[in-house]
Amino acid sequence: MVQQTVTLLESVLEANHRFTRPGAFPPLPKSPTRQLAIFTCMDTRLVDFLEPAMGLKRGDAKVIKNAGNTIIDPNGGVIRSLVVGVFFLGVEEIFVIGHRDCGMSDVNDAMLRHRMIERGIEADAIDALIPDMHSWLGAFTHPVENIKHVVKIIRDCPLIPEDIPVHGLLFCPDDGHLDLLENGYNRQTFSNEANQKY
Ligand code: ZN
Repeated sequence: MVQQTVTLLESVLEANHRFTRPGAFPPLPKSPTRQLAIFTCMDTRLVDFLEPAMGLKRGDAKVIKNAGNTIIDPNGGVIRSLVVGVFFLGVEEIFVIGHRDCGMSDVNDAMLRHRMIERGIEADAIDALIPDMHSWLGAFTHPVENIKHVVKIIRDCPLIPEDIPVHGLLFCPDDGHLDLLENGYNRQTFSNEANQKY
């Protein structure tokens, strides 16, 4: 008997066919009903986990993700998304949420370059586009350090209004608990205690 292989794409389309039902999902507004934007990591363990852990549902929040919730360009895509969220979509508060055991805290830029070349990427192309792999990756040694850095970048960004609170939190992808590192309402800097605790 010939084993029929189902591709990932086919399995996704099949699941989608079973999922969709006419009229099952009432339309929601584009603007977040809870007026918040989350900037977090693309880590798979956060999918279908971070939002329920925050008491959020579909339609409640804008969610921006990248590898390690890093900002390497203060005028880049993350800030652009936040600006659109604030000025077009009613975002009133920003939550920067890093997580424990983040893969970006131990990423090896030399190893990444090696793997790219092994897969056929031209070394010249890498060096032309990414002269400083370490900075380009936004690699960090500890998620708390990165959250602190990113909160500061957003707060200091002249394109984000000063009255938008920017909170910093650390999420646990194993049990779902959040540690508050930075309360955006009081704009205090990180304490040494917070740095040492996590
Ligand atoms: Zn991560």
